[in-house]
Amino acid sequence: MTEKGTIFSQNVKQVAFNSEHLEKMRARYNFFINVAEDCANHYANIELEKSRAFNIRNKAFKYYDKLLVDFETNCISNGCLVRWARDAEEAKQMIYNILSDEKTKNVVKTKSSLAEEIGLMPYLEMKKVDVTETDTGDFICYQDNERPSDPNHSAAHKTKAEIAETFSEKFGVNNDLSAKQLMSVTRKVLNNKYLNANAAITGADFIVADTGNIVISEDEGNVLKSIANTKVHIVLVGIDKLIPTIDDISVLLPLSSLYEVTKIKAKSYFTIINSPAKDEFVNQKLYVVLVDNNRSKMLEKEQQRRIMTCIECGACHSVCPVFNTIGGHVYDNSYPGPVGVIRSIVNGYEESAHLATLCTSCHQCEHYCPMNINISDLILKNRVDIAKEDCSLLGEKRVLNFIMKRVENRKDMDKTKEFINRLELKQLIKKTWGVHRELPVFAEQSFSEMWRSMNESEG
Ligand code: SF4
Repeated sequence: MTEKGTIFSQNVKQVAFNSEHLEKMRARYNFFINVAEDCANHYANIELEKSRAFNIRNKAFKYYDKLLVDFETNCISNGCLVRWARDAEEAKQMIYNILSDEKTKNVVKTKSSLAEEIGLMPYLEMKKVDVTETDTGDFICYQDNERPSDPNHSAAHKTKAEIAETFSEKFGVNNDLSAKQLMSVTRKVLNNKYLNANAAITGADFIVADTGNIVISEDEGNVLKSIANTKVHIVLVGIDKLIPTIDDISVLLPLSSLYEVTKIKAKSYFTIINSPAKDEFVNQKLYVVLVDNNRSKMLEKEQQRRIMTCIECGACHSVCPVFNTIGGHVYDNSYPGPVGVIRSIVNGYEESAHLATLCTSCHQCEHYCPMNINISDLILKNRVDIAKEDCSLLGEKRVLNFIMKRVENRKDMDKTKEFINRLELKQLIKKTWGVHRELPVFAEQSFSEMWRSMNESEG
């Protein structure tokens, strides 16, 4: 097992049987399930909308080479500056260089899965850039030097008391503040940062080929606040966010906020940026950093490329029984949950072998996915690829070979149950399965033995 795989197993053992953690995850799951069907009922024909969305994304992939160049051309003619980054290192370096060249000191950043993926925050901090995360959930996590546990509800793993304790240490407030008071402290700190910031880093939901536009959705208003007054705006976006035309957002944006399970049930702010802000108050420079970082590799994969149509609505991990048991941190991946499991294949078969097991094939995620992605099939495909590359774990291979041999012959199979029922074997298996789980007890007699003894007694 790789080092990552070993750490993963240890972390799973710590959380999967922690009742406090499971209670938080269960509350989160119940909240989602209670509103999810209702959200979908807002559409007269949700299935039709899902297939329209799929066709749009598929078209973008089909003509990628041309559409990306169209986006770049249109974006530049709108007055923006476009940069291309092959991988995480290049993207981080590029952003740091822009900030240095533009002599910006105070930077505000908004939520971005891609920024998490490339490790942008720790990199900028290491380079001594004063950068503040402005998404409330992410802001809370960063106070504890933690990464968000969930792409949509970053601080879902924390209790109010834990947050109050952290705020007390960081901002010198009382450690028994209510949720409302904690929000007010957050706003006060962030408002001060917005006023003094001279650069903003945001992500983007979509980039549009036919107009060169950048489309951003959010539910807190922090993107608008971040870019309102800053002289530099850097949009960090993956090349997979490309869509062919501006009309396509009428289908994709409502679907991307379909399961936004806050009380308002939808994202509140949609921003379409055409060109850098230029008025009497600000003369902005707008950089678009287009990042590949293995996306083209993923698009080359005939089946798994389907996951790149994901619009990050968060439904799949919200319903996934595996995610709802282990939580987001254990994946140690910027895309935790089912999407991350599939995307991890680009990190190499060995690196992703431990993640490929994280699916029970219950198909819940597919029921809710607004892009109709065949998620569990794709995870299965990863498993097949990993097995073909012979990256399965040695212990797993031995057990499977043992079982395969036994099931080939009925007599051998009958003997297996005695073997499995033996105490010492159970103890051995517990080491892998965990001390909290019991192996099922096999019946004393198999069906064939029962059948034989029945016939014998009748005869
Ligand atoms: S099919 Fe797999 S990935 Fe999807 S919800 Fe079930 S366990 Fe999770």
